Amino acid sequence: MAVLKMCTYGDPILRKRAEDVSELNDDVLKYIIDLEETLSKQNGIGLAAPQVGIPKRIFLVDLRPSKEDKKIALINPEIIYRSSDIIEREEGCLSVPEVWGSVIRPESIKMKGMLPNGRIVTIRADGLYARALQHEYDHLEGVLFIDYLSTGELDKNKELLDTIIEKNRKKLDRIQI
Ligand SMILES: [Zn+2]
Repeated sequence: MAVLKMCTYGDPILRKRAEDVSELNDDVLKYIIDLEETLSKQNGIGLAAPQVGIPKRIFLVDLRPSKEDKKIALINPEIIYRSSDIIEREEGCLSVPEVWGSVIRPESIKMKGMLPNGRIVTIRADGLYARALQHEYDHLEGVLFIDYLSTGELDKNKELLDTIIEKNRKKLDRIQI
């Protein structure tokens, strides 16, 4: 098991579509354990593999820090239904630290995917659960919650966002030296 390093805004991996998992093998199970281990050290309720540098369609949602008893790891998830009812709620992201903003999303969804035991499941989710699943699914598509923010909210967070990008740029410079 390993606690993996978080990739933050400006890291190109966060903007790529993650690859399908073609086979449920030991590597995949290890990724899931690492995601669990990494998320447990963070104040978050979800983590997608690309956020820790693994470009695969795997994510973890664990609502227990929000006092809801929902935890799921999904492989190759698909959203098969989105409600027409939408809801606005504040979101943040471990890859965009300290930035918060209102995001409008469908209130409930149905998602299909594979569990770590190989079983294919369809889950119906609403409330925070639906929101977390959609947020993590977006990570697999290279989408970040800040993409949904209004210009006003983006302006409000501009300094923070620039700082995160600058940190990534410096990191890259160091690697290149
Ligand atoms: Zn996120």
